[in-house]
Amino acid sequence: MNTFATQIISSDGVFYFGRLRALVIPAVDGEMGVLPGHEEMIIALKEGILRYKDGKDVWHKAAIGRGTIQFANNRCTIVVDTAEKPEEIDVRRAMEAKKRAEEQLQHALSEREYRLMQASLARALTRLKLVENN
Ligand code: ATP
Repeated sequence: MNTFATQIISSDGVFYFGRLRALVIPAVDGEMGVLPGHEEMIIALKEGILRYKDGKDVWHKAAIGRGTIQFANNRCTIVVDTAEKPEEIDVRRAMEAKKRAEEQLQHALSEREYRLMQASLARALTRLKLVENN
């Protein structure tokens, strides 16, 4: 048991389906590693960089939005709002989204608008970080 079955689903469809040797996830309270045989869990994910090692020992990275991860019986299911590979990121769009969110956050916003803008900023920063570090 040196791999585990994984599916990563985003609102756009199936992002990844296959076996993995390891995962590093952006959990709400920090990065967390997941290896085969991990104990059962369901936890929340925040915007950030997901790293996953495939069956050939190759590490991949993705920018993800908020979601959840479930691990049970050596199977992992990740459901997230958005997921992009580095080569899929439109840098200009992310920079514009960042600028828009930063500008909006300067204004008096309702609590809901503030949280939406914070999340939008976090998504844009994650996308830019993924492209920079790739
Ligand atoms: P924008 O304000 O530019 O629409 P957003 O953060 O509001 O950005 P999301 O709601 O997170 O966008 O995503 C909507 C869809 O667009 C998803 O399919 C997501 O993968 C894609 N997407 C968003 N921003 C980018 C980007 N910079 N590069 C590539 N795909 C992106």
